[in-house]
Amino acid sequence: MKILVINCGSSSLKYQLIDMNDESLLAKGLVERIGIEGARIKHETIGKEKKVIETGIEDHKKALSLVMDSLTNKEYGTIDSLDEISAIGHRVVHGGESFAESVIIDEEVMKAIEENVEIAPLHNPPNIMGIRACQKLLPNVKQVVVFDTAFHQSMPPVSYIYGLPYEYYEKYKVRRYGFHGTSHQYVTNRAAEILNIDPNKVNLVTCHLGNGSSITAVENGKSKDTSMGFTPLEGLVMGTRSGDLDPAILSFIMGKEHLNPEEMTNILNKNSGVLGISGVSSDFRDIEGEAEKGNGRASLALDIFAQRVQKYIGAYLTELDHVDGIVFTAGVGENSPEMREKICQGLKIFGAEIDKEANKVRGEDKIISTDNSKIKLIIIPTNEELMIARETLKLVK
Ligand code: ADP
Repeated sequence: MKILVINCGSSSLKYQLIDMNDESLLAKGLVERIGIEGARIKHETIGKEKKVIETGIEDHKKALSLVMDSLTNKEYGTIDSLDEISAIGHRVVHGGESFAESVIIDEEVMKAIEENVEIAPLHNPPNIMGIRACQKLLPNVKQVVVFDTAFHQSMPPVSYIYGLPYEYYEKYKVRRYGFHGTSHQYVTNRAAEILNIDPNKVNLVTCHLGNGSSITAVENGKSKDTSMGFTPLEGLVMGTRSGDLDPAILSFIMGKEHLNPEEMTNILNKNSGVLGISGVSSDFRDIEGEAEKGNGRASLALDIFAQRVQKYIGAYLTELDHVDGIVFTAGVGENSPEMREKICQGLKIFGAEIDKEANKVRGEDKIISTDNSKIKLIIIPTNEELMIARETLKLVK
């Protein structure tokens, strides 16, 4: 059974075709600059040469029809006909309080996703466009949505209610939702496997450290608390996002710089984080390179990032009775031994001890704590697409 996984952004679309018989990746690709000049599709069938086609791509429907053409292309494709696609799994960012699990798409589900546009105006509209386009192109193929927020719906009110007048939750659903749920769930299941613990009994702190970053306290295999909030802006200092701030700073800067709310929000999302602090880049490789050359603000950005991660891990350890492991995943968590070491230096008080030799790896499942460490430290490369495909298979079977 072959499952197509789709992740639609406002101007981009990522996809993977996965053979669920052995969970092998058959093809993957990226459509960029949808609706903008210079649009292109990069397609790769595993084992064949990559193909890049530059062409006008006016909307998501055109983008998806190019994806289908690439998948079935005689020369660089991977399947003979679209009939080979058994189901499609879509990533949708915000399921609000309506969805604690993945679901098969029908009109009622679409209505609920559309209702959540109000609380996810940047994210849900392109996801909806992707689903609608697939419905038109492949009307007979079952489609499933997997929500970034669903894994965190197990959080108790003590974690998701903000210190605001309660009526804002009742009237406007202002609460913590949490994101990266597919990733936190994937690494939770994998950690349980690696540690040989029942996935419904495992307690973890999972650290998804990439361009966007979040940390989750996992109790009995379920999310108990997480650092992202009403939107993916809260929590850690990220590539370009500020993370936690004193809320009073916003009106102060808006007054000084004559900014409207939209301009302020844009700065918090796009010009802040380690990019804003370092003035170098949002890419940790660039910042690490500059720090090595003696750039003080680059070093400061890395120190701040590590310190915020430590703070959240510390806080979440106090929310759990016991902890089986601390997991590092995503771009930085999987690939930066330097950052992992820096973070773990602050965890000695909990008896967590990193093995510096074992830590010298990138992108593979590995326990990197010493034998004496009271808490296991584990690297687990995340695989959100595979998680989406598994969820899709579970529902359409
Ligand atoms: P997202 O999915 O949120 O866009 P990723 O999980 O792909 O992000 O992470 C991207 C980040 O990972 C990049 O900003 C980059 O700085 C970081 N990264 C990737 N490889 C390395 C590496 N070898 N060393 C340090 N950082 C890395």
